[in-house]
Amino acid sequence: MSTAKLSINLDALATNWRNLDALSSAETAAVVKANGYGLDAGRVGVALAKAGARNFFVAAAEEGVALRRAIGPDLGISVFSGHMEGDARLLQEFNLTPMLNSVDQMLRHFESLPGHSFGVQLDSGMNRLGMEPAEWAALRDIALGQNPVLIMSHLACADEPGHAMNALQLKVFREMTDGIDLPRSLSATGGILLGPDYHFDLCRPGIGLYGGRPFSDALPVITLALPVIQVRDVLPGESVGYGNTWIARRPSRIATVAAGYADGLIRAMGAGINAYVGDAACPVVGRVSMDLITIDITDLDADPDSLSLINPRQTIDQVADAAGTIGYEILTSLGHRYARGFSG
Ligand SMILES: *Cc1c(COP(=O)(O)O)cnc(C)c1O
Repeated sequence: MSTAKLSINLDALATNWRNLDALSSAETAAVVKANGYGLDAGRVGVALAKAGARNFFVAAAEEGVALRRAIGPDLGISVFSGHMEGDARLLQEFNLTPMLNSVDQMLRHFESLPGHSFGVQLDSGMNRLGMEPAEWAALRDIALGQNPVLIMSHLACADEPGHAMNALQLKVFREMTDGIDLPRSLSATGGILLGPDYHFDLCRPGIGLYGGRPFSDALPVITLALPVIQVRDVLPGESVGYGNTWIARRPSRIATVAAGYADGLIRAMGAGINAYVGDAACPVVGRVSMDLITIDITDLDADPDSLSLINPRQTIDQVADAAGTIGYEILTSLGHRYARGFSG
């Protein structure tokens, strides 16, 4: 078998949800957009529902369909992108709650699905999604007359606790919503860690559930094992891989494993990361290819059957740092070729 194995620890995921939940007195929902940050929204959703999550968020109505099938009819599923043209049938059939982002979405929703649940997304300064203060001032009485279930906004800099943007967005969100007797939500993972002023009635963590920064107490959720296809001896002065970027300085033993940048192990991560056999670290050498990675296993006592690239010793954030990106991108790039195994 030459398929790399992505193991997903659903117990660790559930523990991360419980630990984030314990940080606030608000309800803790779960963000499972992008197929549960690449891991499998259905499996992740069922595990988090068992842990106690009652509300889930996805990016688009289409993502809500698979999740609804997995978690059943009773739990809430909300859609960040709101009510887009053509969404009405899915929103209705799968009982999805759009977070309306504009006057256009509001009109579309009230016309095509009168009485169907919805929330409102406000822009408190990020300028990405949601109604701006002036737009909201003009529409809020109409919107509130239709009984939204949630009013939410999103923080741009919550992973930097000292950033002035956090307090600024908090102030704008309060100005837009104080006095409205409805559940409010401002915080994702980073916002939960900013403290109670940011919690309101519902928090919406994503990355922290999956073991990523800025939730530094998160348990690692995934391990990635790459099977060895071939092992060879390389003499001093010989090179390995495209562009001859690595040249052996000693008699070396090189293992070639079955995964590459087509599997989300982006090329930029090459230099500076290891692959592991137990606690033994073996440097990745040469360039990451589309389907293959080469690893210096000279210091091992025996040739391994597989090496682990992501594990508690080298987490998604460490791999991301080596590649100049963030854990979110590593997770959501992992792709479809892995055999996914679930425990817990
Ligand atoms: C992705 C997202 C979240 C979750 O963010 P994390 O940083 O992964 O916790 C919450 N709310 C909105 C609007 C999002 O887009």
